[in-house]
Amino acid sequence: MPNLLILGGTQEAAELARHLTGETDWRIITSLAGRTRNPSELPGEVRIGGFGGSSGLAQYLKDQSINLLVDATHPFALRMPGHAERAADLAGVPRIKLLRPPWQAESEDRWIPVPSLQQAAQVLPRDCKAFLTTGRQELEPFAQRRDVAFLVRLVDTPEQALPLARYSVIAQRGPFRSQEEQELLRKHEIACLVSKNSGGSASYPKIEAARALALPVIMVERPPIPPGALARSVTEALDWIGEIIR
Ligand code: NAP
Repeated sequence: MPNLLILGGTQEAAELARHLTGETDWRIITSLAGRTRNPSELPGEVRIGGFGGSSGLAQYLKDQSINLLVDATHPFALRMPGHAERAADLAGVPRIKLLRPPWQAESEDRWIPVPSLQQAAQVLPRDCKAFLTTGRQELEPFAQRRDVAFLVRLVDTPEQALPLARYSVIAQRGPFRSQEEQELLRKHEIACLVSKNSGGSASYPKIEAARALALPVIMVERPPIPPGALARSVTEALDWIGEIIR
């Protein structure tokens, strides 16, 4: 019976785990970093916390006799894809990166593409009210913008003050709806959004809402894709898995 490890934290990882536990009797383990307090329910086994770098992950792959590794971490997870690549090589385990496609700007979108959060902080208009959805760990670059009032949306209510001069927080978990996103932007008189180009449907409604209200979106572009096998959807990942485990 094959053992499959999914590096998770995304909708696609959960979908893949659901599909494989429903369709096969394989051992499916999803690994989470442990960033959110109450992660969504997942089928199969769940383990939480880092492995201790690529060597720690390689050891885990060997100890648990993992046959396949699916790196379904978020497009903006910076370290794990490299660790997964090296660990899979060290342990001799086939690996694939599951990476949903980025959003593409439509003709009415007013996107300002930037390569980093630091750049995003620099290009924010002076004295504006900005909607920030980049995540709790990634607020530091915006600390210098003492002129900007931020509306920060996080999954969990923060336990400590955020490193921003002027802000309010809302704790909400997606998926979101376009109409509600428009109402939120209007209610808080948002003039500008900062978003990572995460792709996927769960957080796209804020982009639709910005389009409807003709608001600019400072769009942080993705980091490079790791080398090796790449699936753009859960279906493509399942095809690859099917090729390897016949
Ligand atoms: P990261 O920079 O790639 O990871 C930092 C460290 O966290 C890794 O070195 C690893 O620790 C541990 N880690 C990451 N993903 C893990 C997983 N699935 N299982 C076990 N350990 C994991 O990633 P990040 O940006 O901090 O994101 C952390 C997690 O949140 C990822 O799983 C990602 O899918 C999810 N997420 C991230 C974002 C985002 O915008 N970055 C958005 C939504 C969800 P060790 O080196 O000790 O193994």
